[in-house]
Amino acid sequence: MKKKNNISPAITRFPSPIAEDISKRTDDEKMQLIAEHFRGILEVLGLDLTNDSIAQTPERVAKMYVREIFSGLQENNFPAISFFKDEFHHEHHPHCVFVKVGFTSFCEHHFVPMHGYAYVAYLPKKQLIGISKIPRIVRYFASRPQLQERLTAQIADCLSLLLGIEDVAVSIHASHFCVIARGVQDENSQMVTNVLRGKFDNDEKLRSEFFSNI
Ligand SMILES: [Zn+2]
Repeated sequence: MKKKNNISPAITRFPSPIAEDISKRTDDEKMQLIAEHFRGILEVLGLDLTNDSIAQTPERVAKMYVREIFSGLQENNFPAISFFKDEFHHEHHPHCVFVKVGFTSFCEHHFVPMHGYAYVAYLPKKQLIGISKIPRIVRYFASRPQLQERLTAQIADCLSLLLGIEDVAVSIHASHFCVIARGVQDENSQMVTNVLRGKFDNDEKLRSEFFSNI
């Protein structure tokens, strides 16, 4: 097993719209500034910030943004990845690895949650990725202001780059709170996005095997 910690920006950034100078502020500076701005929003809304219940809300939100729900904006939070030799590799009968991952992300248009499952599959080429690493990769890219379409492609691109393979499939089924809690207020709506690469795209049998697992 070998660990790879030097992940290139090509994997961690591409293709999110992240500014070049994202690391010019420390986490503490970011939290202080966000708290000030969020306090401003609450004041504009007319809330009484001397009330015990919300007095600490600006700091609480700032900490949650930087340390938790948007922590995936920072490259140094990309998980350490472990690889294993694929003992079962067979040139003509490759086996398919399939993982289902629950996740929560935040829609970048409304800054409210989207919640669902990512179904991830790949055909290994001599190398496997540690089983717990796929959920960590999904959570890393989910921990950003996101679009479901981009999240789906980022997970596929990342696995493809890490493993040096083309045969990757990602399907995301998610409920968006910007559709549930506002706008049309449709509680049952779900959005599905698929990215099928290599054999998952051009091999009918493999593609239906992938979708039958969902
Ligand atoms: Zn939205």
